[in-house]
Amino acid sequence: MPLRSDPNCIFCKIVEGTIPSRKVYEDDEILAFHDIAPWAPVHFLVIPKEHIPSLAHVTPEHAPLLGRIMTLAPRLAAENGAEPYPEGGFRVVVNTGEHGGQEVHHLHLHVIGGPRPWKKG
Ligand code: 5GP
Ligand code: ZN
Repeated sequence: MPLRSDPNCIFCKIVEGTIPSRKVYEDDEILAFHDIAPWAPVHFLVIPKEHIPSLAHVTPEHAPLLGRIMTLAPRLAAENGAEPYPEGGFRVVVNTGEHGGQEVHHLHLHVIGGPRPWKKG
């Protein structure tokens, strides 16, 4: 069965390859790519390939997928320049809805790290 996609969603277009991205990781259900406007030396996004609009839309069936995304975050952070815990580390952010500051309505986990100062956060 094809994954759910939204033709007006920029992250679905990145999944499909119609908008280019600098990929960090890809498998059959997850894509990670560098943020176009990084706040810090390390700043990439981890997304499900399926169009889930936000964290407010997840259901118990998504638990394994979310578990995989969360488990990938530290591995990809280390592979992409975040220094080891505890002196290094990274920040994980999931902006959700208007009050949460979400701009792109396709669920994504920000992974942000590297030596400070950062531009934001
Ligand atoms: P939000 O505010 O929704 O949590 O974050 C959306 C993020 O997506 C922002 O950090 C923004 O820089 C990033 N972004 C928006 N459009 C694109 C794009 O076309 N390509 C990439 N790589 N990142 C994008
Ligand atoms: Zn989408």
